[in-house]
Amino acid sequence: MSSDPSYAVDITALIPVYNEEENLGPLLEKLTADLKALGRPYEILVVDDGSSDATLERLRELHRVVPHLGAISFRRNFGKSAALSVGFHEARGRYIVTMDGDLQDDSAEIGPLLEKIEEGYDLVSGWKQKRKDPITKTIPSKLFNAVTSSMSGVRLHDMNCGLKAYRSEVVKSVKLRGELHRFIPILADWNGFRVGEIRTVHHPRLHGKTKFGAARFVNGFLDLLAVMFLTTS
Ligand code: UDP
Ligand code: MG
Repeated sequence: MSSDPSYAVDITALIPVYNEEENLGPLLEKLTADLKALGRPYEILVVDDGSSDATLERLRELHRVVPHLGAISFRRNFGKSAALSVGFHEARGRYIVTMDGDLQDDSAEIGPLLEKIEEGYDLVSGWKQKRKDPITKTIPSKLFNAVTSSMSGVRLHDMNCGLKAYRSEVVKSVKLRGELHRFIPILADWNGFRVGEIRTVHHPRLHGKTKFGAARFVNGFLDLLAVMFLTTS
């Protein structure tokens, strides 16, 4: 894969973080090692979504020592969609790879995701086949994915996986309002982009807490209806 002169870098790794003070340091260390191993020009973009713990202080410290790290900070918590949206706007890479900031996603998967993109896809989603989350999350999530997939016709096993790779055109064209980050593949498919998936590993959350409680499933289904209205002619 050669680098394209029309982009400042080949890969932008984009990470939204909200109260991930203990995860940020180890995450950036591993991510940097994995990106260096790919041997292609990259940037890392961390969006602090109005954290109330020491995430922003950690980010300021890390900004001084981690190469190619850009940081954006929100004055308050706007939500994951808003954080991704701003990151999508600022990203300078030919490819954008999003990851959660909680060490549940593995940056060693960036290489395989980009290989799949190069096969001719515009968006490649991770599929956490062996999900390391409590059963209260895995079972509703399976149901959510089955309904979303059959209603939208976009055949993905894990629509809302935080780990995804995109061609730049996709992130520049997708408009995320509310909590629509859960449905990016449907919005991309609607815009005519080719969507694929690969199986990816998933790790348990060791530090900090999930930010999305049971309300996620209710809101998720309401958002699914909104997305279906938006994308059904
Ligand atoms: N996140 C965010 N803003 C929010 C909620 C979450 O930026 O309002 C980030 C969070 O820090 C993490 C990612 O989005 O990097 C996924 O969040 P979480 O791990 O809580 O979700 P889950 O894995 O439980 O679906
Ligand atoms: Mg998580």
